[in-house]
Amino acid sequence: KEISSIKTVNPFNNEVVKEFKAMSEEQVAKIIDDADEAFKTWKNTSVKDRAEIMHKVSAIMLERKVDLGKLATLEMGKVLGQAIGEVKISAAIFEYYATNAEKLLADQPIEVPDGDAFLTYEPIGVILSVQPWNFPFYQMTRSAAAHITAGNTMVLKHASNVPQCAQMMEDIFKEAGLPEGVYTNLYVSGKDIAPIVANPKIKAVTLTGSKPAGASIAEAAAKVVKKSTLELGGSDPFIVLEDADVQLAVDTAVNGRMANGGQVCTSPKRIIVAGKIYDEFLAKTKEAFAKIVVGDPMEKGTTLGPLSSEKAAEDVAAQIKKAAEQGANIVLGGKRMERAGAFLEPTFITDITPKMDMYFEEVFGPVFMLYRYETIEDALEIANGTEFGLGGTVFGTDTKKAAEVARKIDSGMIYINHATGVAPQLPFGGTKNSGYGREQGKEGLLEFVNTKLIRTT
Ligand code: NAP
Repeated sequence: KEISSIKTVNPFNNEVVKEFKAMSEEQVAKIIDDADEAFKTWKNTSVKDRAEIMHKVSAIMLERKVDLGKLATLEMGKVLGQAIGEVKISAAIFEYYATNAEKLLADQPIEVPDGDAFLTYEPIGVILSVQPWNFPFYQMTRSAAAHITAGNTMVLKHASNVPQCAQMMEDIFKEAGLPEGVYTNLYVSGKDIAPIVANPKIKAVTLTGSKPAGASIAEAAAKVVKKSTLELGGSDPFIVLEDADVQLAVDTAVNGRMANGGQVCTSPKRIIVAGKIYDEFLAKTKEAFAKIVVGDPMEKGTTLGPLSSEKAAEDVAAQIKKAAEQGANIVLGGKRMERAGAFLEPTFITDITPKMDMYFEEVFGPVFMLYRYETIEDALEIANGTEFGLGGTVFGTDTKKAAEVARKIDSGMIYINHATGVAPQLPFGGTKNSGYGREQGKEGLLEFVNTKLIRTT
């Protein structure tokens, strides 16, 4: 039998820390049976009682934010300060649903000429959630907090390289008083997930990850007529208009791009700058790069750690090499670093054209891609020129004009004078091949409920 791929490997030195045994098909079926059984009771609890538990989860996460942060850093290499920030936003999401779910799930009257009509939101059962490693706690949170508060139960398959974060989340739920079976981890490899969707006790599936993983899950769900939501990749445009505050735009773009080792779905991956300010922007970007501190992600002062794994670093290095061969200009970095661990030099690339693969690809690493435009139509052609449509940014002093540009970008979220962000009440998700459906906010809470109409005449 093949060795399990589920393990903690510290990307700072590539040492194996802990291995997990993959679950058998029987174990998985038993967990789904238990989640289905738990649903029968959980769906009848009041939203208020569920909210009590979510308050506790939030409090425990905040109390242990440093320990949780260290675990995320150990398993996937993000800088500790950023990992602690991730735990804080996760706690805020639990708190948001704890405070607002009763109001958001309340019956909604509809005006009718006679009698009454209203919508009521009913949970549907066991949700299968498949999540990636890049924000190990936040990713689990945004699907679990909403759907469990709505009265569903959940089985969650986390990425194979963050099993201890998954374990920690399950422990926290238990400690907060969540009944047995309402949330349980599945330790299985991604390639073995699609058949689980067909289990009749699974009622819907949500995945955050790559397009191939999303397509396999969505296909499996469609075959058995189950709802799916997908949060997939992105190659967000960051348009800088000629009236922008150039220094602020540079700092926002460089910090945004380097955060989490560049492994963020909504990271500003393509920086599209007006010709008039391009030279100044380029020079200031070089200055900002000089301030990046690469090193041990556990150390204070480090601003860029390793990538999540040796394979991730190799894959991005290969994308850069190919772009260079196809004629792109590597201004800074571009290579693996000569040290232990999954390190890649912070990289700055210009002159990327549609003749190159990189123009169309998502680059999931610390790679700053700078484009130049002369007219706003050119800028929009670059911005809309990939299969993705997740987030994006427009920078400009005239915010009304910036908002007009924002309307013309095919994307799920656009921020003006700010990198794409996250807040519990703001719906998160994309269009085109970045997926469908929303997480967070009211929209996220209502993805997996039966919106039932009751009409009295
Ligand atoms: P990935 O390979 O698709 O992995 C994501 C999850 O899917 C993991 O749990 C993985 O399990 C599982 N998986 C892998 N292959 C699968 C398959 N064929 N069927 C079902 N599940 C499968 O993603 P990644 O490359 O590690 O993560 C980065 C991607 O996620 C990027 O494209 C990024 O932009 C995207 N992302 C999107 C968002 C968003 O909100 N839109 C947020 C974060 C990340 P294993 O680990 O066991 O393979």
